[in-house]
Amino acid sequence: MNGLVCQSCATVYPMNDPRWRCGCGGLLDIRFEARLDPEKIARRKPTMWRYREALPVGDDAAVVSFDEGMTPILPVELGPGVLHLKLEQLFTTGSYKDRGAAVLVSKAKELGIERVVEDSSGNAGCAIAAYAAKAGIRCEILVPESTSPGKLAQILFYGAALKRIPGSREETAKAALAAAESTYYASHSWNPFFFQGTKTFAYEVWEQMGFRAPDAILLPVGNGTLLIGSYIGFRDLKEAGRIDRIPRHIAVQAANCAPLLRMFRDGLDVVPPVESRETIAEGVAIAAPVRGKEIVDIVRRTGGQVVAVDDAEVENALLLLGRKGLYVEPTSALPVAAYLKYPALHGGVMVAPLTGHGLKANEKMLKIASVR
Ligand SMILES: *Cc1c(COP(=O)(O)O)cnc(C)c1O
Ligand SMILES: [Zn+2]
Repeated sequence: MNGLVCQSCATVYPMNDPRWRCGCGGLLDIRFEARLDPEKIARRKPTMWRYREALPVGDDAAVVSFDEGMTPILPVELGPGVLHLKLEQLFTTGSYKDRGAAVLVSKAKELGIERVVEDSSGNAGCAIAAYAAKAGIRCEILVPESTSPGKLAQILFYGAALKRIPGSREETAKAALAAAESTYYASHSWNPFFFQGTKTFAYEVWEQMGFRAPDAILLPVGNGTLLIGSYIGFRDLKEAGRIDRIPRHIAVQAANCAPLLRMFRDGLDVVPPVESRETIAEGVAIAAPVRGKEIVDIVRRTGGQVVAVDDAEVENALLLLGRKGLYVEPTSALPVAAYLKYPALHGGVMVAPLTGHGLKANEKMLKIASVR
């Protein structure tokens, strides 16, 4: 039966139940047969909604879209190898989070929800705020005080109520959970509809590589919203008989905040408490990812790895990307830094997203450029 399924107690709720977690407190997944017909898909306009039968929004009139998706994939020479970069910084709000926001906010509109709350280190807040604005849904966004000014300006422009929370990213998450007691939680880590949007990353890679799966996906990971989405997408393709094998999923963390690396290396099944120090990779500074076990399970199941890179390595990768004409925010340089640092990861066709636009973090970017 289709619906929302609890990861902890296996309770199944109807697909249109406006809940973001199980009564037992567990995380919800979506059970839904994604239909993918290459002939139908190829005839449609180049947006992520070309996979319409694979997206669990029932009512076409509810779809909230900026015609997003089908971002280009570019092969880029890096040292002795080639990495295929998918330009996810080109979305309307400047990050891949628009994939998740498009499906989540469309679902919220279909359910008649009038107010949402979201917490974010910046980009997910931008995305939810923009799509809520287009949908006419009231929106409150909570961010840590340290969030880049460019992202704050964006959230304010979209008309969301913005709250800056002192302390760590975890303090912001706590404040959002409290607000979510009375408002629909449009969370990119809890709400399972977000991952039904980010999974279109995998569909597009498959289609753009000639209806074939690459051998590996290399991506920055904090809460895992793109990693989990990518896995779901490739799993859908495998279950539909369109590919034989799911690519290795390689998660790259910031060395200053790397709980998933600890989990992976030490064979743990729960996220250990880690000391989180500041990093220029603000997009993945997540000390307590709620879907941590799910992320590490995917890495293990697909034969991938978790690795980490430090700020100096990120800066070098960022500068290198700039010299190739690609201006992205520091977090987006993580896969490139890992590719350069760990040749042992190389093998077969490898795809990495450039997750966010450099214009979002101009202050940080200027500092990096000036020091060199
Ligand atoms: C959100 C984000 C990431 C990482 O996403 P997680 O869901 O935390 O794994 C990476 N890069 C950018 C630019 C982001 O906005
Ligand atoms: Zn449950």
